[in-house]
Amino acid sequence: MNIHEYQAKQLLAQRGVGVPPGGVATSTDEARAVAERLFADGHARVVVKSQIHAGGRGKGTFKSGFPGGVQLAQSAAEAQQLAEAMLGQVLVTKQTGPEGRTVGRVLIEAAGTIQKEFYLAVTLDRASARPVVLAGTEGGMDIEEAAARTPGKICRKSIDPALGLMPYQARGLAGALGLSGDLLNAAARFIPRVYRTWWECDASLVEINPLALLEGADGTTLCAIDAKINLDDNGLARHPELQALRDLGEEAPLEIEAGKHQLSYIQMDGNIACLVNGAGLAMATMDIIQHCGGRPANFLDVGGGASTEQVAAAFKIILQDPNVRAILVNIFGGIMDCDIIAQGIVTAVRETGLSLPLVVRLEGNNVRAGQQTLATSGVTIISGDSMADAAQKAVAAAMA
Ligand code: GDP
Ligand code: MN
Repeated sequence: MNIHEYQAKQLLAQRGVGVPPGGVATSTDEARAVAERLFADGHARVVVKSQIHAGGRGKGTFKSGFPGGVQLAQSAAEAQQLAEAMLGQVLVTKQTGPEGRTVGRVLIEAAGTIQKEFYLAVTLDRASARPVVLAGTEGGMDIEEAAARTPGKICRKSIDPALGLMPYQARGLAGALGLSGDLLNAAARFIPRVYRTWWECDASLVEINPLALLEGADGTTLCAIDAKINLDDNGLARHPELQALRDLGEEAPLEIEAGKHQLSYIQMDGNIACLVNGAGLAMATMDIIQHCGGRPANFLDVGGGASTEQVAAAFKIILQDPNVRAILVNIFGGIMDCDIIAQGIVTAVRETGLSLPLVVRLEGNNVRAGQQTLATSGVTIISGDSMADAAQKAVAAAMA
């Protein structure tokens, strides 16, 4: 699960990581109020930041033509104008794809003077099956290019999960940022707090880019200017407080609908809808469609023990994708009772008045009863004898 920058900063701040003072706003009035409070506290400038689940905002462009999802303001009135230009507008960045994302909130923060920008991240290294902390001097908006140009500049520390980030490792990372003296000590305290946030939240990624040296009233300080946290969905059950951070506005509507029925739905860009049971069968089904010259539009995994209602709901979800030209049901009933699937198909076809070609391949537990249900239902079905046969028929039907 992804969360917004302002939420990521709250999780970091709760664990002692320095972040700029500020607040989130969903309306221009709220934005002005936050900015007024910051100016009243003596800050000379504020920054207005679009909150979307994608990076590259600084260099992004709104569909309205307004450039930049991150902008500085010298007054509360200007902050309000910037919020007005961003809220409700669609921001397109390198990471959003051409369709962009609608900005529902802006984060208003005090904008200090940045002396230097660094990169800091904690993630899981799958190769070593250990957490890894990354730090580099090339922070900011051009990190991707910098990493491609001079990959050696990023310092990596592999962490023993039983020991956690050791003090000498934190000092090594701080040193790699080119810091010395008090600032090195400050970084050696800062970095373990970021690691702790990653660990305690069951995050898959905590990325601070830029981590900045800020010149301010209280001297030079380290501050997380931007923060991105991805949470591991498998850990969410342990964190009701993190589940509450979910922003459904950022998720694909059909995927949310599927979630309500305990189904997993994944959208793709072809024209053959796939209804399968199990992620492995989903992958194999997509491969064979591709092999036969077709392209999957989506797949919907009904899991191991779906009910007739769930199967009917699954059908309604895949039919809402306007690109679908044919449906391939590929079920291997190990746990799943094939007759339940068959009854679900019949119910769904009747309720939706389905007119698209429907190819069904059922195999396994109670398959005779399932085939009987389909055969006597009066519903038009193209039946596949094997996975390959069903895939060929679905591809042919989608092309017809
Ligand atoms: P991103 O483009 O989505 O990664 O958004 P960021 O939060 O990283 O903001 C983009 C850039 O704006 C940063 O890399 C900074 O250079 C700049 N920026 C963001 N916040 C501040 C701030 O408080 N003060 C100053 N001076 N610059 C900022
Ligand atoms: Mn950034």
